[in-house]
Amino acid sequence: MKTKIVLSRKIFLAKVAALWPALKGSLSQVRKPCIRPGCPACASGQKHSAYMLSFTQDGCRRCMYVPDALAPLIYRGLRNGRSVEQLLCDMGPALIRDHRQKRASATEDRPKPAKSGTSNKKRRAKN
Ligand SMILES: [Zn+2]
Repeated sequence: MKTKIVLSRKIFLAKVAALWPALKGSLSQVRKPCIRPGCPACASGQKHSAYMLSFTQDGCRRCMYVPDALAPLIYRGLRNGRSVEQLLCDMGPALIRDHRQKRASATEDRPKPAKSGTSNKKRRAKN
């Protein structure tokens, strides 16, 4: 579903505020070994499931382990982050279309130059 862009600062800020928390990166589920000696899961090669968040910081790709309890919040943050990004991407074209529309309606509202014979004043284009 395509969201309608509303060119109001107040509505835009409300939309962004509703998308809290918003973040950028990717969450993956990995399997990692633990440090317990003789761990059956590690010995079998199954290892332990863990979530990892990958993100870019100061131009470098970084990763952090995510506690299981935090994974749903991180997922929601990633989804919200994509929505915020989409809002920003949609804003440029919306501003341009709005400007064009206002310019077009201003041109329509402007009095048309008089037809020949009705007035001897010549209209000058103002720029
Ligand atoms: Zn283990």
